[in-house]
Amino acid sequence: MSSALETLRRDFGGDIIEPGAADYESARRSRSASGSPAYVLRPKSVRDVQAGVSFAASAGLLLSVRGGGHDFAGFGTNDGGVVIDLSKLANVEIIDKERHLVRIGGGATWGQVAAALAPHGLAISSGDTKSVGVGGLTLTGGIGWKVRKYGLALDNVAAAEVVTANGQVVHASREENPELFWAIRGGGGNFGIVTAFEFVAHPTTDVFFGKIAFPASEAATVLQGWADYLRTAPEELTSTVEVANAFAGGPEAPIEIYVTFDGDDPQPAAQAIDPIRRLGTVTGDDVALQPYADTLADGTTPPPGIQVVPRSAFADKESVPEVLQILAEVRASQQSPFITVRSVGGAVSRVSADATAYAHRQAELIIVTTLAGPEPTIEAARPALEAIWERLAPHVNGAYANFLASATQEDVAAIYPTQTYRRLAAVKRRYDPGNLFARNHNVQPQ
Ligand SMILES: Cc1cc2nc3c(=O)[nH]c(=O)nc-3n(C[C@H](O)[C@H](O)[C@H](O)COP(=O)(O)OP(=O)(O)OC[C@H]3O[C@@H](n4cnc5c(N)ncnc54)[C@H](O)[C@@H]3O)c2cc1C
Repeated sequence: MSSALETLRRDFGGDIIEPGAADYESARRSRSASGSPAYVLRPKSVRDVQAGVSFAASAGLLLSVRGGGHDFAGFGTNDGGVVIDLSKLANVEIIDKERHLVRIGGGATWGQVAAALAPHGLAISSGDTKSVGVGGLTLTGGIGWKVRKYGLALDNVAAAEVVTANGQVVHASREENPELFWAIRGGGGNFGIVTAFEFVAHPTTDVFFGKIAFPASEAATVLQGWADYLRTAPEELTSTVEVANAFAGGPEAPIEIYVTFDGDDPQPAAQAIDPIRRLGTVTGDDVALQPYADTLADGTTPPPGIQVVPRSAFADKESVPEVLQILAEVRASQQSPFITVRSVGGAVSRVSADATAYAHRQAELIIVTTLAGPEPTIEAARPALEAIWERLAPHVNGAYANFLASATQEDVAAIYPTQTYRRLAAVKRRYDPGNLFARNHNVQPQ
């Protein structure tokens, strides 16, 4: 046995899962990739995380860090290396009732967070799905059902506890290690393993949530009207549009506008939502008052062999009309991918572009196309997808890291504008000069 492994077995109090073990089959997989790691480590404490990081570094093994395991690029597993699976570090604790300060383990899921906070009348705007991890979603963004009022998930982080590449525990906040704190709010898992986040939660009541459907034939006017309205709508209203859905009738699928109104008073809720109802001929409307935690979907794991391949970009105010016109046209084709458009703006845009490593503050919309199916279906659909993105290219910018299935240099350049990337590289040189944390949209230390 190598001395690195001996040290791991001595210092590590969690589970060490190796090929042949009963739970190896499930442990080796993340949501989007199977993989064959040599070791899957499930730490139960910060000391275990330190031991796991030191083991991967001294054994010279590739390291994957898995939070909720939901990323689309397969970062959460690898072949022949180490996976540190944080799922046992999922504690959610209110540490300051007055300030609504909540400490959350780096391996918690948003469903666990919503369930733990609901009895206290608190919530954190995160994402739309319970099984998604706090770690991955927060470290690169976090666009949830209250994003226009409370900003990205990362905008609500007050501090973090990070195990860096040398196995040390470092605290990051505005006061302590502020450059690291800047970097982990957008720079992903490049700088270490976040064993705990401190978030400022917000008080929540039940919310009005649901979808309003319009006929496919009204796509162009409904989409333009929706984007125009969101520009001045109350920030209690957050909204996303399912522009194209191959599983709901392809070109005939309705335009479905999801809305959340953050509040339980029917009158302001109706005032905020009714202008959307007036955008066209409503063919379905299931908006209803419900607990915030119930608005999050359970999340499903695609069956083996089925790939889910999202791609994303931002649209700024001046390009919104062209972008929506293009999407209204391409959705009418049998080859259209799934297309979702999320409205941002609001509280997201009030943070300056250099305040965090998430720089796309000026965007009004996030455009996400998704292909789903077995590999041959995905490959057959790629040319039509490329054609769509070629049309969009003059009007969109950047990419949202959480909705990307690849991690090329072009992807990294799209996620991080040059100034942001340079600053991230300086932080990387300080905290991970050997690039131990490389299974991510990687910032190179050089
Ligand atoms: C069904 C579904 C719904 C989604 N809905 C939304 C949504 O509404 N809004 C949105 O913004 N995004 C959404 N996403 C995208 C989601 O934010 C990303 O897939 C994100 O990467 C998932 O985080 P994770 O922790 O589950 O993933 P993982 O695969 O575990 O991690 C992703 C990356 O983060 C790193 N990482 C994770 N945890 C830590 C940690 N504690 N410390 C250091 N590094 C860590 C990993 O190493 C990896 O590089 C959705 C994804 C899915 C599959």
